[in-house]
Amino acid sequence: MVFPQLAPLARTTTRLHPRPGSPSVRGSSVGGPLLWPVAEAWPFCDGPHQPDGRPATTVQDVRLLRQLMTAANNRPAGDMLFTPQEQEVVDRIDRGRPWPDEPVAMLPVAQLYCRDVPHLRVPEQADMLQVLWCPFDHPEQQIPKTALFWRSSALLTDVVASPPQPVAVQHEGYVPQPCLIHPELVTEYPAPLELEQGLREQVEQWSARQKAGAAPGSAYDQAESAFYQYELSVAPGWKVGGWAPWSFTDPQPLPCQSCGTPLEPLLTIASNEWDDSNHSWIPYEDRDDATRDVYPDPARPSLVSVAGFNLQLYVCPVSPEHPHAELLQ
Ligand SMILES: [Zn+2]
Ligand SMILES: [Zn+2]
Repeated sequence: MVFPQLAPLARTTTRLHPRPGSPSVRGSSVGGPLLWPVAEAWPFCDGPHQPDGRPATTVQDVRLLRQLMTAANNRPAGDMLFTPQEQEVVDRIDRGRPWPDEPVAMLPVAQLYCRDVPHLRVPEQADMLQVLWCPFDHPEQQIPKTALFWRSSALLTDVVASPPQPVAVQHEGYVPQPCLIHPELVTEYPAPLELEQGLREQVEQWSARQKAGAAPGSAYDQAESAFYQYELSVAPGWKVGGWAPWSFTDPQPLPCQSCGTPLEPLLTIASNEWDDSNHSWIPYEDRDDATRDVYPDPARPSLVSVAGFNLQLYVCPVSPEHPHAELLQ
């Protein structure tokens, strides 16, 4: 090992590798149906939902637009993108719908069973995690508001068949496309900014030497730490656990608002499974498609976009009752 000092900082992470599919309530998913008890009210968000000057859209229109995009992209090259009839529908969808005044039903984002994600640390008695979000930006961080539910699936027999849909959504990227997950365990190390200074400098020097061997103009021809950060330390994409992908802010402590204990990363909701800076993380089975112009882009299987960044959810290791935190990176 080049840096034995990194060994104690290793964390096991589960990359989820969402891929479009037809998940069921009894399975793990991204954007799939939730095993939701009939006896429990579906969560709604009261906002505030501050209008951003643009019209809102709906889940139905987002899904219809994606169907049209898929159809258009599967036609032989040389065709116009949309037929005139399709274009009329697209234009209608583009005009949007008015901003909602009423509470907004939350949308399923992920359902994860421990049997699929063994490193998911669940509270006693629970065997699954459900994540929902309100598909609008909210004050302070300007991101969707998330809600977490831990459940014991064995206790749930009467489940909701047709959950409420939000009356509107702010962005197309806030509607996750239903995906099955393909969990993979990987080892992560902290981003350079989280290392203590001496070790960070050593890592940066080593990373710069690796970079020197890279082709000019390649993605990590940017900063000394880039090769280490993007290709080796923090995995991109949807994942459970791991380290924070610090990008536009310096690392900051995230203390629990109830007890002050440092919060730990739970789930990363990613806008991209990979980008130009981290090709080493592309699964082998996706490498051919990754270089082609296909829809949906294999780097964006869930079609989620949170301003193109990662929305990382943090929880308190002391108690699942303590409030979770959201961090955009
Ligand atoms: Zn809301
Ligand atoms: Zn706490």
